[in-house]
Amino acid sequence: MNYRTFLIKYAEIGLKGKNRYVFEDALVKQINRALKRCEGSFDVKRTEGRVTIDVTSEDYDFDETIAALQTVFGITGICPVVVVDKVPYAELSKEVVKYFDEVYPDKNKTFKVFARRAHKDYEMDSMELNKELGHDILEAFPELTVDVHHPEIQITVEVRNVIYIYSEILPGPGGMPLGTNGKAMLLLSGGIDSPVAGYMIAKRGVVIDAVYFHAPPYTSERAKQKVVDLAKLISKYTGPIRLHVINFTDIQLAIYEKCPHEELTIIMRRYMMKIAEDLAKANDCQALVTGESLGQVASQTIHALGVTNEVCTLPVFRPLIGFDKQDIIDISEKINTFETSILPFEDCCTIFVAKHPVTKPNLEIIKRHEESLNDNIDELYKKAIESDEVISIW
Ligand code: ATP
Ligand code: MG
Repeated sequence: MNYRTFLIKYAEIGLKGKNRYVFEDALVKQINRALKRCEGSFDVKRTEGRVTIDVTSEDYDFDETIAALQTVFGITGICPVVVVDKVPYAELSKEVVKYFDEVYPDKNKTFKVFARRAHKDYEMDSMELNKELGHDILEAFPELTVDVHHPEIQITVEVRNVIYIYSEILPGPGGMPLGTNGKAMLLLSGGIDSPVAGYMIAKRGVVIDAVYFHAPPYTSERAKQKVVDLAKLISKYTGPIRLHVINFTDIQLAIYEKCPHEELTIIMRRYMMKIAEDLAKANDCQALVTGESLGQVASQTIHALGVTNEVCTLPVFRPLIGFDKQDIIDISEKINTFETSILPFEDCCTIFVAKHPVTKPNLEIIKRHEESLNDNIDELYKKAIESDEVISIW
């Protein structure tokens, strides 16, 4: 079947009045963005509380188009549909039988018709359509069997200004369209977790900016490139990302020289969060996002997270907090970041790592030890902020 139209399904819970409008507008915008990656041209529109996509070019690639739509948050299902004008029943019946024949060459199946009449001006109501279309299909293909409870094929016939015929609903990613829920700053490292965290928060409709702390020459250009590559991979879902690269070397060295080594990671994490928050505020972000997961490493115990969190005033979203590593890996494989994340380039956490990091840091003690940075930390901090290199990723 050469489909020329797609009906887009989205969760309609809570979509009333102005919210509905904002949601649908954002959805249309994001669909258009995703389709730009595809061969062919398309017309995306909102009609009668639905979003539909018409193919307007002669050629397009069905699989590529579906794959692109499956990156658009807010979409719960994609239905390739056949559209017919609001023709009299006799003609509609022929169209439905023809559709069935083309889409299901093997007739050894169970089926059911699910008709919906949105406008009362059609000659038959839903019940009558179900009954008559079921009857006509059976008459055309007697090998079929009706099963109203668990049919292998459900043919939906929606009578609106036009009539939609479909039976396949390909899954969308769910979530909310980007741009419907503010903006957040993602702390993006080269690991497995933070790209997944960014994906998950973007899935709630949040636009993402990102910050990467690098420590040249201790971390290489290749390590930085890996982060750029990861940002590129998630931008398929999250939309364009402004990636801030911050030179963290001097702060890191100062901590290394002046603070107890078992507290290195936790103090370093506090400085990362502080800088990330400053960047967030300067870039209209309302929250921070990290890939932390409770208990995964010493710096992610409940005590350590409390101490890290203490430097922030913005909300810090940790979408992976309750996830096992394998759950995180499963998502990273699904969004295609896993292979890149496991490339063996060093990051600053692995270079300046203590043999026995504290797992129960005490805030007062940490703060006291941070005082030994006082003579030049303000200057280093300012220099780090000024080192901000913005890489636009789309
Ligand atoms: P990831 O796989 O995301 O690197 P991880 O398990 O290695 O996570 P940590 O290295 O402790 O965990 O980092 C915890 C979180 O801190 C990361 O998920 C990320 O959000 C942030 N983070 C760590 N290092 C950096 C960095 N160099 N630049 C930016 N953010 C970082
Ligand atoms: Mg890491």
